[in-house]
Amino acid sequence: MSSSSSTSNWIRHIPTHCFCGLPVVERTSRTPANPARRFLCCPKHSESGSQCRFYNFLDPEIRYGYYRNEMHSLYVQLQQARREMQVQEYTYRSRIHELELELNERTVTGDCYKKPVVVFIMVVFVMYFLTQ
Ligand SMILES: [Zn+2]
Repeated sequence: MSSSSSTSNWIRHIPTHCFCGLPVVERTSRTPANPARRFLCCPKHSESGSQCRFYNFLDPEIRYGYYRNEMHSLYVQLQQARREMQVQEYTYRSRIHELELELNERTVTGDCYKKPVVVFIMVVFVMYFLTQ
């Protein structure tokens, strides 16, 4: 694959294990200094109190500030769009749930459009008995 060949061109030896002897895991940096830059690290990297500080970048540094800033800015915009989509999804799911409850209630209590028909039939009955 092209990504692995470019990686192997940049670094000759790709480590397979971290300082504590565990198989390394691949992560992607999202920091302003290293946006979208893949690296290998200890599987316990994000755990609090982890003593292993092993990490090894797989991708070269983005040298030009403009592209680095642009890459980070795009990531920030993407995250914001994802959050907005989650809010919209939550809003729509809530509305769907409300409509389902309303529909269920109407099904249980009887459809409201049938009530005028029932009233009309009762009026006809009453008028029938009054005219007898
Ligand atoms: Zn480790």
